[in-house]
Amino acid sequence: MSQTLREELKQEVAKRRTFAIISHPDAGKTTLTEKLLLFGGAIHIAGSVKARKAARHATSDWMEIEKQRGISVTSSVMQFEYAGKHVNILDTPGHQDFSEDTYRTLTAADSAVMLIDVAKGVEAQTIKLFQVCAKRGIPIFTFINKLDREGQNPFELLEEIERVLGIRSVPMNWPIGMGRELSGVYDRMKNQVELFQGKDHSEIEVRPVADYNDPRIREMAGDYLADQLAQDLELLDVAGDPFDYEKVLAGQLTPVFFGSAVNNFGVQTFLENFLQLAPAPTPRRSTDGEIEPEREKFSGYIFKIQANMNPAHRDRLAFLRICSGKFERGMSVRHVRAGKEIKLAQPQQFLAQDREIVDTAYPGDIIGLFDPGIFRIGDSLSEGGNLVFDELPTFSPEIFSKVSVKNALKQKQYLKGLDQLTEEGMVQVFRSAGIFEDTYLGVVGQLQFDVFEYRMKNEYGVDIQLARTSFQFARWIVSDKIDPTKFRINSTLVKDKNDNYVALFENEYAMRTAMERMPDVQFLETAP
Ligand code: GDP
Repeated sequence: MSQTLREELKQEVAKRRTFAIISHPDAGKTTLTEKLLLFGGAIHIAGSVKARKAARHATSDWMEIEKQRGISVTSSVMQFEYAGKHVNILDTPGHQDFSEDTYRTLTAADSAVMLIDVAKGVEAQTIKLFQVCAKRGIPIFTFINKLDREGQNPFELLEEIERVLGIRSVPMNWPIGMGRELSGVYDRMKNQVELFQGKDHSEIEVRPVADYNDPRIREMAGDYLADQLAQDLELLDVAGDPFDYEKVLAGQLTPVFFGSAVNNFGVQTFLENFLQLAPAPTPRRSTDGEIEPEREKFSGYIFKIQANMNPAHRDRLAFLRICSGKFERGMSVRHVRAGKEIKLAQPQQFLAQDREIVDTAYPGDIIGLFDPGIFRIGDSLSEGGNLVFDELPTFSPEIFSKVSVKNALKQKQYLKGLDQLTEEGMVQVFRSAGIFEDTYLGVVGQLQFDVFEYRMKNEYGVDIQLARTSFQFARWIVSDKIDPTKFRINSTLVKDKNDNYVALFENEYAMRTAMERMPDVQFLETAP
């Protein structure tokens, strides 16, 4: 019996690819996601992901604030089958208002696709998301999008990726022309040319060639582009990094694909290569050591809680990443922090925007659990044991507001809400060390403040006041002896919810000066 379960797990795990797309707003993430889903047959009408982004439809029970802004407050999951693989795409909000949830979602991914606009190159939000992935050492695949537009020289882009992100790259294909001259891409692995044809570039034709000097390329693309291609690829062969799969898996080398998502050009090749190269669900660290996905006993952890999806019912959805074993509806598992057995009765899985009840699921899959308020971010669930997965990383806040309650009579509810919402990971709280206690909230995205304010009002009946401060950096202070007077000069000293000292700085200069003046003190980006 247990032998067969192990076999089943082995097969299911091998099929799974769970990844996130990381990019800066407008690079084309929605468009690419939609094309990928179309290949998987997960959605039948082009534009439905787009429509979801533009205006969440009337039947949507997403929280009010999300509807008002037409954006996804928290990330969701999309899944589809393609070429024998079971694909889970973790959606990371690409908007200005991203939040800590976006970062946490990345912990549930086994690899990432980095989407870059050929004209804009590596942008701010891409850098932040990349760094979170790089810290975990997960493989990163790059798709350079909008090849149908005039963009930067491909060599310059590769150089920029290396300089800004510190990762080497290996182009898997190479553009033949760009913008109006774009005639296709050359596939370096298969030695074939994918031609971009038709008046509106609507047709794609694949032609095998001997190598990049094949005279047939000249016939297809003309002398000028054929010469350019041969020159570029010769240079890459000599000076570029060779493909090294070990390095790809270690996150040290990113395979790069060129294409155009909106024209569906290069997307299929990208998908097929990606599914081949991206890792299946990987082991996760826990108090019981590394947990292999093929381990028979079910385990997983919660990386996100979506509150108030339906304001009328105040229900919450906890997103669980399955790390090992087989999930079966109705099964009992141990909620380790709470120290009790719970029944997983109404789990949901996600397909584009529709949620459906799921009966079985495997490592790498994400399921949504109905949460009557018993879960917290980072909670571990396990079958027959008390294993606890490594704590989720925290992220250094970058935006800070002073918070206060408008009506002093509501003080009690205010403190309760503040306590619960910070416990949940909604915002980080800091309190000044002086006699008159000021409370600051720290976030990575403005959206977190808006949601916090909304939930304080709707769930706790408290109107709060948020006053933006000019702090930009928080550093956790580690030192044998802390002399608060020393911090007065160019920072504000506060304490986090666990009473750790934290210095808030208004700018990098102030932070650097403080560090130089106190060489014995450690300044950490996140809580020790
Ligand atoms: P997101 O903000 O990253 O989700 O970006 P979207 O998918 O919404 O795309 C932003 C804009 O870029 C939209 O107007 C898309 O139509 C456009 N876009 C996406 N892919 C391409 C492409 O390959 N070529 C061109 N020219 N435009 C594209």
